[in-house]
Amino acid sequence: MPLSHTDYQTIADKLSPNGQAFIDGKFCNAADGEKFETINPATGQVLASVAHCKEQDIDRAVAAARRVFNAGTWSRAEPEERKDVLLKIAALVREHTDELAVLESLDTGKTITDCLHEIGTEVPAFFQWYGELADKTFGKIAPTGPGALALITKEPAGVAGAVLPWNFPLVMAAWKIAPALAVGCSAVIKPAEQTPLSAIRLAELMQQAGVPDGVINIVPGFGETAGRAIGLHNDIDTVSFTGSTEVGRMFMRYSGDSNLKGVGLEMGGKSPFIVLKDAALNDDLIEHAAMSAFWNGGQNCSANMRQLIAAPLVEEFTGRILDRVKAFQLGDPLNPKTDIGSMITREHKSMVLDYIQSGVDEGARMVTGGASELPGHFIKPTVFRNVTPDMKIAREEIFGPVLGIMPVQSAEEALSIASDTLYGLHATVFTQDIDRAISMARSLPCGTVSVNGFSEGDIKTPFGGYKQSGSLARDNGTEALEQYLQTKTIWIQSKVG
Ligand code: NAD
Repeated sequence: MPLSHTDYQTIADKLSPNGQAFIDGKFCNAADGEKFETINPATGQVLASVAHCKEQDIDRAVAAARRVFNAGTWSRAEPEERKDVLLKIAALVREHTDELAVLESLDTGKTITDCLHEIGTEVPAFFQWYGELADKTFGKIAPTGPGALALITKEPAGVAGAVLPWNFPLVMAAWKIAPALAVGCSAVIKPAEQTPLSAIRLAELMQQAGVPDGVINIVPGFGETAGRAIGLHNDIDTVSFTGSTEVGRMFMRYSGDSNLKGVGLEMGGKSPFIVLKDAALNDDLIEHAAMSAFWNGGQNCSANMRQLIAAPLVEEFTGRILDRVKAFQLGDPLNPKTDIGSMITREHKSMVLDYIQSGVDEGARMVTGGASELPGHFIKPTVFRNVTPDMKIAREEIFGPVLGIMPVQSAEEALSIASDTLYGLHATVFTQDIDRAISMARSLPCGTVSVNGFSEGDIKTPFGGYKQSGSLARDNGTEALEQYLQTKTIWIQSKVG
């Protein structure tokens, strides 16, 4: 049964968040003792002083991860053993959902309702699903002549690094940690500097579940120092990054400038929501349109912010989406009635407001939204109409609640505008014509296409981007395991025939 606003506030008042790094099974300060503050963006209140890890701390974490990897305590443990530990992590996260969700909400400005869903449902599901895969993943035997037996086996890649964004802190941590640990890697995880607290708390739960010392290390810090040190480290075998395309590029360079480690990239997007003229324009479609844009205050990599609507439907669509958007409640993220929380930082809010101004300056019509009077970094859900494909708000990732409606004359025009972007993460198509749906889904150059509903898929389906939204790596599904595995061929010559 969900708790009340007062209950969540009471949990918040009792929290005393730990901001230490977690290296080799121990909580510790950064080697040089430096700290930075993490702040509740909805109130400006300082939540905790956090260890400011730098190269020396990354070195310590990698050394611990390497030592335990080579020792085989986890990397060569029975798969059932790793499964049991991952299932225990899932159970502990479920047990501590309220506390973790409040912590996440305070650190991010996300609504408690979203945090409860992510942490009560998605995060434990990741640990459970990958845990259950640990003893059910098989290698292959290649067809050979009678003179050989050829085994194609998978081995853990070694020490995995992960560098995370701030928009879904614990979900992103679980996306990386669960598959890495399931296959036997050790890991060094850098949460985003804006939102380090839930990953640090997760480390305690992971230790309680039985993850051996050194297998998981959490190193809070900034991108230019801790993130860069992970990217350039010569003893990290693979790194999985989620964040902006600009920083993703750097990870490719870091790899080239160091040990050619594997690089998995999940990055930005500018995803289209296409409504063809035969679509049923009903409440369900409007709900999907609104949520695809404004879920998590638009701070979502697959937010569908370019809404390409068949010209005959534009007037009705605009009226209905406006009614829906005006019903969104902005406010205290700990109130279960709140739909949209705070932007992550003052700088991010001001960047989003600059985009809104550019939309006005370039001639689009803002029909609702703009800055909010609330203290904290709030922005009202904003809708523009008369957006054209060349406008800045139609081309660049805003990562805030700014939706642009563009009329299209045909499915072909929708496909052409939708595809004309550097990104390729996600697209939604609404149509009642199954042949058209299949053809659009096959033609759109992006990693996920959802038809007649906005969805990123679920844990079983791979998630990642085409073009500058991603590398060939995928998170989620069995595909995610590949980021943390090496392939080995064992060719056994045989005289038996
Ligand atoms: P960001 O790229 O600024 O930061 C992401 C991480 O990279 C942080 O941990 C940061 O400290 C680190 N970093 C920053 N500069 C670095 C550097 N020079 N070297 C090494 N590391 C560095 O992104 P963000 O603002 O945290 O997140 C927003 C972006 O993430 C958006 O573009 C969004 O689309 C993307 N995102 C993508 C997905 C996905 O699955 N495709 C999911 C969530 C977010």
